[in-house]
Amino acid sequence: MRPSLLDPLFAALTTLPGVGPKLEKLYRRLLGREDQPARVVDLLFHLPAGTIDRRSRPKLRDVVPGSVATVAVTVDSHRPPPANRPRLPYRIDTSDDTGTLTLTYFHAKRDYLEKLFPVGELRYVSGTTALYDGMLQMVHPDRVVSEAELDKLPMVEPVYPLTEGLTLNPVRKAAEAALTKIPDLPEWQDPAWLQREGFPSFAGALKTLHHPAETTDILPEGAAWSRLAFDELLAGQLALALVRAHQRKLPGRGSSCEGLIRAKVTAALPYSLTPSQGRAVDDIVTDLAKPHRMIRLLQGDVGSGKTVVALLAAATVVEAGRQAALMAPTEILVRQHLATIAPLAEKAGIRVAILTGRERGKERAETLDRLARGEIDLLVGTHALFQDEVAFRDLALAIVDEQHRFGVHQRLALARKGEAVDMLVLTATPIPRTLVLTYFGDMEISELREKPAGRQPIDTRTIALGRLDEVIEGVGRALGEGQRVYWVCPLVEESETSDLAAAEERFADLRQHFGTKVDLVHGRMKGAEKDAAMQRFSAGETRLLVATTVIEVGVDVPAATVMVIEHAERFGLSQLHQLRGRVGRGTERSTCLLLYRAPLGETAKARLAIMRDTEDGFRIAEEDLRLRGEGDLLGTRQSGMPGCRVAQHEFHGKLLAPARDDAALTLARDPDLATPRGEALRDLLYLFERDEAIRLLRAG
Ligand code: ADP
Ligand code: MG
Repeated sequence: MRPSLLDPLFAALTTLPGVGPKLEKLYRRLLGREDQPARVVDLLFHLPAGTIDRRSRPKLRDVVPGSVATVAVTVDSHRPPPANRPRLPYRIDTSDDTGTLTLTYFHAKRDYLEKLFPVGELRYVSGTTALYDGMLQMVHPDRVVSEAELDKLPMVEPVYPLTEGLTLNPVRKAAEAALTKIPDLPEWQDPAWLQREGFPSFAGALKTLHHPAETTDILPEGAAWSRLAFDELLAGQLALALVRAHQRKLPGRGSSCEGLIRAKVTAALPYSLTPSQGRAVDDIVTDLAKPHRMIRLLQGDVGSGKTVVALLAAATVVEAGRQAALMAPTEILVRQHLATIAPLAEKAGIRVAILTGRERGKERAETLDRLARGEIDLLVGTHALFQDEVAFRDLALAIVDEQHRFGVHQRLALARKGEAVDMLVLTATPIPRTLVLTYFGDMEISELREKPAGRQPIDTRTIALGRLDEVIEGVGRALGEGQRVYWVCPLVEESETSDLAAAEERFADLRQHFGTKVDLVHGRMKGAEKDAAMQRFSAGETRLLVATTVIEVGVDVPAATVMVIEHAERFGLSQLHQLRGRVGRGTERSTCLLLYRAPLGETAKARLAIMRDTEDGFRIAEEDLRLRGEGDLLGTRQSGMPGCRVAQHEFHGKLLAPARDDAALTLARDPDLATPRGEALRDLLYLFERDEAIRLLRAG
């Protein structure tokens, strides 16, 4: 249970004055809370992107047009629009002893302005100045105060990232109100470290950031932001360390065997393993035989053949008389894994079943029943595997594909379904070592560096959309030769509907050219429809598959040889790489056409050039990191570190190692977090919502 001390921070944002249900919707979007209520803490961690500096107090003569200035002026006269032309602006003439300034208001209420600017009185107005017809003016001043109120005029104001419909002033007011909700919290950081780094207290840091005195106060590399980033990183490292300690405490169980089932699987393969596949299998088999738990990451580029390694791992525990689970993030992927695995498994005598949201009723009940009785050796599924009703007889190995779509707590949830469950995590994103640490903790790593033999390089070309006709012609030739083609439609930010509209339009268009060879698959389709479309394409019944990005992850149709990506400039590098990886999987030569709308921006140009230059996923990941930051590399929205909302790799990456050391040292001295600092650190874990780890503490 979260300490009640923190309740005000986790209270709904609507508890703040001025945040009604209508605005709250916008805050959800702004704060990334999608379907959940936004909370005070979410707003507090929504940090400013800049400031407005109102400290410049020039005389009117010295105002630099275009800059923000705060000026002391006397109100000379009002010039309301003539009665017959109410749409003209309302102007107020003001002056000081050096010059004049016109204040301009559109759609203003006359009596409001008359009250705000009594003729003959002194007013301080602050806002952006401009020259209009050679006269100095200010359109809609941001602030207007009298002499008496001058000390209330904020001199440096934070500017927040906003979302459509939400303007700066209400956000500022809400943030101010949120600051008053911060309880008096015990310090959880080591005082000596705080002093050395010059870090303020947690509350102090938030106050500085939302209420800056200097424009530099809000810089990510500054003391205030860094303090919060360190808090966040420490919370993350502590949570990971607790999970690890917990896992170490639970004795593992060795699953060793002669490898007979593995041999049967290998014998059933139409190819031989690559050397790195072989090494990965050896690593895993050795890990599994040991009496402590395995947590291993299997990194391998798209198409490097991770699935078969996973199957061989599963075969090992199955031979030891135990069960394995393979979890993937999407329905399509799960079905595809099943399609790859089922024939091999059958030959090796491994009993496989599937469980997703789509298995219902009797069939589902029967699967669960057989699972509990141990009549299923390997269960392949989506998130459905987490559900409480899913009980294994003896789960020994949990394999998670495309891990970065799952959180650490989900990994734990799966691991809890058995006794001392070994973990194998598959990822296609080559993740830099430091990120592995933050995101996964200390894992062993196996890499699949080489592609399976016989693969040909993919011929990648960039083509302006203006040459679409030529592209369609080329696709027609490829179809004529019996090739199979993916056509991926533009990614439209934030909008699944227009995504779909674009795909449907292209589909209709290509149908006119190529008839019923053309099919469509998109995210709005029902699962069974999607599978059916993939199946038709895979079997060669259809030959041109128009798709939204649903095909991005993991889809495997080795016979497909052409990939067309429309509006390639809208995709990130890793996404392009993933998409391109759908072709070049067989022995035929493949082509990837990146269609772009000219003119290209610098970054887009660089991205497309890299795509033309290389197919090396590691190099592409590095370039991606350079161009976009880690957030995108891992497919998360923010540009921060994965799973972090405050810390940013660029500025706070260097704090990661100290955070890790601090976490390790702390837990070595205080494994139950029972000392006063330990207690305070529990608050920290709750604050950054890493409290899953606290449950482990209690479970002992
Ligand atoms: P990914 O690592 O992207 O998940 P997959 O496991 O889907 O890759 O494998 C991609 C394709 O490569 C599949 O069609 C698979 O059968 C094939 N494959 C895997 N290993 C080898 C190998 N050693 N030699 C040839 N083909 C292989
Ligand atoms: Mg895969």
